Amino acid sequence: MLEKIVIANRGEIALRILRACREMGIKTVAVHSTADRALKHVRLADESVCIGPPSSMESYLNIPALICAAELTNADGIHPGYGFLSENAEFAEQVESSGFKFIGPSAEAIRTMGDKVAAIRAMKEAGVPTVPGSDGPLDDDGKKSLAMGRSIGYPVIIKAAGGGGGRGMRVVHDEENLLNSIDLTKSEAAAAFNNDVVYMEKFLGAPRHIEIQVLADAHGHAIHLGERDCSMQRRHQKVVEEAPAPGITEEQRNRIGRRCAEACIKMGYEGAGTFEFLYENGEFYFIEMNTRVQVEHPVTEMVTWVDIIKEQILIASGYPLRFKQEDIQVHGHAIECRINAEDSRTFLPSPGKITLYHAPGGPGVRMDSHIYNGYTVPPYYDSMIGKLITYGSSRETAIARMKGALSEIIIEGIKTNIDLQKDIISDENFAAGGCDIHYLEKKLGLDNP
Ligand code: ADP
Repeated sequence: MLEKIVIANRGEIALRILRACREMGIKTVAVHSTADRALKHVRLADESVCIGPPSSMESYLNIPALICAAELTNADGIHPGYGFLSENAEFAEQVESSGFKFIGPSAEAIRTMGDKVAAIRAMKEAGVPTVPGSDGPLDDDGKKSLAMGRSIGYPVIIKAAGGGGGRGMRVVHDEENLLNSIDLTKSEAAAAFNNDVVYMEKFLGAPRHIEIQVLADAHGHAIHLGERDCSMQRRHQKVVEEAPAPGITEEQRNRIGRRCAEACIKMGYEGAGTFEFLYENGEFYFIEMNTRVQVEHPVTEMVTWVDIIKEQILIASGYPLRFKQEDIQVHGHAIECRINAEDSRTFLPSPGKITLYHAPGGPGVRMDSHIYNGYTVPPYYDSMIGKLITYGSSRETAIARMKGALSEIIIEGIKTNIDLQKDIISDENFAAGGCDIHYLEKKLGLDNP
């Protein structure tokens, strides 16, 4: 078993990893920038190391500093969390070549999944359904691209192989704009991702975002933990997530879930991962795989009773999976609202000192957050300051508990998106379930700026 883990992250996920380590009797090393000395997990960790100034580039993205911290403290594993270096193949490689265990998949798996064209190819080979499209990069042959657009049918979307975070994509509604759009996406991709490879997909009009959580060990076993619905999005950023996805049958869950687990075995994938799909008219279409733990992992934990972070650590320690597929049952329903330090209407970040914090509680309420009374949210990082998760035997109960918890939580001194979350949770279409990925922006009047 790993004995001492460097938590190469900050905020709520760093605290979440620390809690799992404590439960397992594993020692923890917190690393932090000079702006993050007051983070809760830094105070709770067995040891802490300052790795640089506030700028992420010089701290949380500083590979030599992170490896130094592991050396200095005699740690044996590094958990990357999400964001920052979690999907950086070079980091995984350097961690391993310095003699530490990277808690995640191999650098090779990260590299393949980080290249969307390679990822789609791997999925096709493994029998995972993908969006109808160009089957690889578009070359410079305009005639070929035009023919392809015609056979796929408009609208189509041009996507950068190296894209991420909702960047590097362009929707094309008609043939006249196709070649120009390909050129534009290519040059943007070259500038943004240093990779001008682009491909074409059918643009789905009103899909839902449904993703499958998987766990795979180093001994050729893999299972899925069912699905999450993350369709409530603003600018491709998830705002509310839930498990299971409304209306998805057990039969559908098992069919797509089994495909994903089999794909992991085929790829020799190790660790936790998420297969993201667009879902439209009863069909799943793979869009990308995330090779790390996700922000929304708690909703899956609540309904499957599996601690995903603990399993990541056990897998990285070399243990075989403790569960067989038939051991995994989905019980009840869980919803997560992301709590951000930002204005509910303008979405402008609102860093600053929290003068009063009161956490919600009661049955089926889980608050994953690092904030406390008097904590100052620094302006340098992501604005998410916590995740409020509610659980119930039914979706209605989970929603009712979320309404209660949102009205109970008090965060003063900074602006938060709690009012926005109250609006969403009280929305009748959300209550009905199954909204598509454009629903929230339409509701907010942001779809036609
Ligand atoms: P990123 O890595 O930037 O998040 P994704 O491939 O996951 O890129 O796509 C991000 C979002 O873009 C999706 O959640 C969806 O909203 C939209 N999108 C991507 N591909 C398509 C498509 N073929 N049809 C419709 N929308 C799409």
